[in-house]
Amino acid sequence: MQLHTRILIGMAAGVAVGSIANFAGIEWLKSALSAIEPVGTAFIRAITMIVIPLVVASLLVGTASLGDLRKLGRIGAKTVAYYMISTAVAVSLGLLLANLVKPGSRIDPATRDALAEQFAGEAAGKMEFASKAPSLVETLLNMIPRNPIASAANFDLLALIVFTIVFGAALSALPTARSKPVLAFFEGINDASMVIIGWVMKLAPYAVFALIAAVISKFGVDLLRSLLMYAGTVAFGLAFHTYVVLALVVRGTSGLNPLLFFRRTAPVQLVAFSTSSSNAALPISLRTAEERLGVSNSIASFVLPLGATINMNGTALYQAVAVIFISQIYGLELGIAEQATIVLTATLAAVGTAGVPSAGIITIIIVLQSIGLGTQVATGISLILGVDRILDMMRTVTNVVGDLSCCAFVGKTEGEMEVPAEE
Ligand code: ASP
Repeated sequence: MQLHTRILIGMAAGVAVGSIANFAGIEWLKSALSAIEPVGTAFIRAITMIVIPLVVASLLVGTASLGDLRKLGRIGAKTVAYYMISTAVAVSLGLLLANLVKPGSRIDPATRDALAEQFAGEAAGKMEFASKAPSLVETLLNMIPRNPIASAANFDLLALIVFTIVFGAALSALPTARSKPVLAFFEGINDASMVIIGWVMKLAPYAVFALIAAVISKFGVDLLRSLLMYAGTVAFGLAFHTYVVLALVVRGTSGLNPLLFFRRTAPVQLVAFSTSSSNAALPISLRTAEERLGVSNSIASFVLPLGATINMNGTALYQAVAVIFISQIYGLELGIAEQATIVLTATLAAVGTAGVPSAGIITIIIVLQSIGLGTQVATGISLILGVDRILDMMRTVTNVVGDLSCCAFVGKTEGEMEVPAEE
């Protein structure tokens, strides 16, 4: 049986058992599911542990083998342009849907106050975290690491990516006799990392079961009811952007059959969904792009780590809907100028969102502030926190599919994608 079928079975079983525990209120089953949650956490840790060695080795070898700095510039420009445009499209789609559905106008003040009270503590924690966020200039400066080892140790992927690209470019400028041993060393690290991913992925079906069952068994069903319109709008928007907009883009830019694209990338989507983390999905995403979409290592190792760090189509779409939802609850009418501000700030906020669980609900503060909802930020966030985990799972899928669609686009246009026949 194929891996994604096994993961899918794990997920379906997780949904079923988690729902039984939750809806029937079976306490012992809920405790049992909490008890096996560490299996999922172990998986996330194991797959995350390979990110740093894999990104460095694969990107270094990839950049060095490009051989031509102009080509690197062209690929970089294409990738960043694709990421920015697709994110802005996602935000616009979110805005359109939220304005049409008006999820916020259906919440009565009593529910609003109850939600705000219930999640006030958690929201305060997020606010404190956000207040430490660096400014735009600091963010740009932080991209240049003072110490690449510290960047690796702190999981500061963007700075590490910048350093690795510079190092790879420098290697390609050396005579082959000098660069060859260094590259051979990192090629070995890359290959060993791939082997480790294969091992860790064997655990995926069980881990996905544990993660999903635990989330569902703990979920507040009443909450979902009051936030149904909001959560439904986000979910529909994400599904539409992923499986219609990006499907068309994949077809249009790389000529790939979207069904084939989604089938081959299914394990990445399932891992993204169950871990809520683009970073955790990155190793399997790299492997999938190379082995199942046939994209060259130099393209995949550049486009995907960058995407996991700066490209968040799903997060941006979700932020647009959430901001409109909150402003509708507070009776704030947003004109065209404010909506344009949302497109801009949500696109930038998504760039600044780390590929880890619930990062998007912290950077949403930037968007809320930009349209004058500064004083309502804390309560605004408390309103949406209750359903955030489930929406996080969904938006992470959109985020990684966005990265993979860009990978196919760049691979195809650079003549470095040869989809292997399989299945
Ligand atoms: N969890 C998302 C990701 O890793 C980020 C977010 O919270 O929106 O892609």
